[in-house]
Amino acid sequence: MTIELATLDGKAPQPSRAMESPLSIRGLTVSYGQKPAVFSVDMAVEAGKMTAIIGPNGAGKSTLLKAALGIVKPLSGQIQVFGAPLERQRARIAYVPQRASIDWDFPTRVIDVVLMGLYRQLGLLGRVRNTHRLRAKHCLERVGMADFAERQIGQLSGGQQQRVFLARALAQDADLYLLDEPFAGVDAATEKAIINVLKSLRAEGKTVVVVHHDLATVRDYFDNVFLINTSKVAEGPVDTCFTAETLQATYGGRLATAQVDQLAAALV
Ligand code: ADP
Ligand code: MG
Repeated sequence: MTIELATLDGKAPQPSRAMESPLSIRGLTVSYGQKPAVFSVDMAVEAGKMTAIIGPNGAGKSTLLKAALGIVKPLSGQIQVFGAPLERQRARIAYVPQRASIDWDFPTRVIDVVLMGLYRQLGLLGRVRNTHRLRAKHCLERVGMADFAERQIGQLSGGQQQRVFLARALAQDADLYLLDEPFAGVDAATEKAIINVLKSLRAEGKTVVVVHHDLATVRDYFDNVFLINTSKVAEGPVDTCFTAETLQATYGGRLATAQVDQLAAALV
């Protein structure tokens, strides 16, 4: 649906980019073998909001993000990013992978990890200039890691590494941020630092999608939820879609009834 808005100064209305879904997925099926990891999933991420992707282990949450990024090839389905094919919009997406999937065997300084976020601006043969270094430093400041710029990434704690990966995503200056379990196994200070950065991105009008495992903080942190267990269970505002019923449908026997009751109490 297109809404035409008359403007006071009589100029033709500009098509509103904000109205386009930052990530729109239709009929997505991904399979690594015989059994699909993601089956026939539709998704419409709301612009300028924070959305949590929630589901049990092995539900296809990471696979959904990887398909959205073109990292895994779907069996079927269409993916649009801000109303255009993914290939044309890659520069507008920043991704923070699940930390466990990264292995730092080779020595790399923190500042270099963040500079990797700038490679599209640098080009393959581009020289790192002072402006790039300043920008990387600024991103480290935003996550409270400025003092660690010269340290080796492998020597940092899990929480500190997670903040550095977020700084790298910030350096990309994207419009859509996809994060895979950024709070898993991090300390309380890091969790707070990360959520504050994500909220500031939202305040700037950016869209944030987070695979999230802690059901207790969903209501505090997020506007919308996307519940998945291979197939989509529910999608929409936390108020209406994050309920005892939808959680039971998502987790089935894997979430003890007592947990569901506890959550239901917290939900009202
Ligand atoms: P989640 O992130 O929700 O825990 P994943 O998307 O990682 O789930 O995985 C969904 C399913 O796909 C699981 O059954 C998992 O074992 C399987 N899977 C994920 N990645 C691969 C892979 N690279 N090769 C084979 N199977 C995979
Ligand atoms: Mg995962």
